Amino acid sequence: MDSIIIVGAGPAGSTCAETLAKNGFQVTIIEKEKLPRYKACGGAIPKEMLDKFKIPSEIIQRYFNSLTLHHIANNIVIDRKGEGAILWRSDLDAFLTQRASNSGARLEENTSVTNIIRKKTGFEIKTTKGDFKSDWIIAADGVNSTVLRLCGWRKFLRNELALTITHEIALSKQIIEKRLGSDQLHIYFGKQYFGTGYGWLFPKKDVISVGWGCRLPDIRNSNQQFQEFTEMVHDQIKGGKLIKKAAHLVPVGVRSIYRDRIIAIGDAAGFVDPLSGKGIPYACLSGIIAGQVLKKAIDKNKLDEFKELYEKKLTQAFLTALIAKRDIQPEVYGSDENILRFMKLWQNHRSTEIAMSLWKNK
Ligand SMILES: Cc1cc2nc3c(=O)[nH]c(=O)nc-3n(C[C@H](O)[C@H](O)[C@H](O)COP(=O)(O)OP(=O)(O)OC[C@H]3O[C@@H](n4cnc5c(N)ncnc54)[C@H](O)[C@@H]3O)c2cc1C
Repeated sequence: MDSIIIVGAGPAGSTCAETLAKNGFQVTIIEKEKLPRYKACGGAIPKEMLDKFKIPSEIIQRYFNSLTLHHIANNIVIDRKGEGAILWRSDLDAFLTQRASNSGARLEENTSVTNIIRKKTGFEIKTTKGDFKSDWIIAADGVNSTVLRLCGWRKFLRNELALTITHEIALSKQIIEKRLGSDQLHIYFGKQYFGTGYGWLFPKKDVISVGWGCRLPDIRNSNQQFQEFTEMVHDQIKGGKLIKKAAHLVPVGVRSIYRDRIIAIGDAAGFVDPLSGKGIPYACLSGIIAGQVLKKAIDKNKLDEFKELYEKKLTQAFLTALIAKRDIQPEVYGSDENILRFMKLWQNHRSTEIAMSLWKNK
């Protein structure tokens, strides 16, 4: 049976490992951190994902039933229905990785990949804790993927990346609910503050995740823009204690997905919604799809068909929508008027529906 190394124990790597281990493969996850570990993330996931991935209620910080959309320039607030949950990524990732381990995947934590040498058959993977051998490598190591860099894949272009800044602000549950409601996510739009991005206040149980994000070419001065945003939401976060700060990139464009026994999944491939920055569901879905397609290709001994089938399944699941959103994103966020138009449409339609319609008329 082929051996597989998955680099990265985020949602992409762990769901892929679980899928492959359940199908009898020898899978090792190499993760540079020790789980559970903090990961900058709003931690919002849609209800469908809770059900599909059987996420237990014990790791949920808060359920939400609506999104409150704030249009700053026009001082307009729109409520949109939207169900889901907020979690700490430390909890979600530890849970998914434990489930992969329970299915038979081996986890090597505190282990960083430092070099990859292609052998006649398979790979030798050098890490901070020794060498590993495998027939396949799955790059699930996020937006700055070391695996793909070492294997010579192209980097994300500047306009395929957004910068985010997050502050985690601790406050009591009562104060959070008084200021933000008990089941709402707050999203802020405005060219001046966010360029081609947006800001958010996502309430966990007793912490508000304050976030700001914008595509790299459109940033005026990230620290200043973040500061201006926090001043604007001062009444919501005042008196809170800053417990964590982080800056992190998000891919907003898809790069290659496969080359010669190296498979990219999740953020490493660029599977993030360019309009919303949502990436957890696509990380999980791509992990599962990669695992299923790999099993099929190996079982049928048709490895040359892997790429085509992987791309086809991704396209059916979400890839076309992400590409459409990437193409219309600059226009949707191009002016306060366009943002308002999008917000109004989003109130009653799914963002994919709007994106596909705008894309077809482009
Ligand atoms: C501020 C912010 C807010 C976000 N909010 C949301 C949200 O609310 N909802 C949502 O759906 N998405 C959100 N996203 C996107 C989401 O976080 C990502 O799409 C998701 O984490 C992708 O999962 P992944 O498994 O592909 O990669 P990651 O979660 O990045 O995991 C990669 C793993 O690889 C490990 N790794 C990296 N390099 C190495 C190496 N050399 N060797 C070994 N291990 C390595 C890392 O330690 C990490 O554990 C947000 C992103 C950001 C930055």
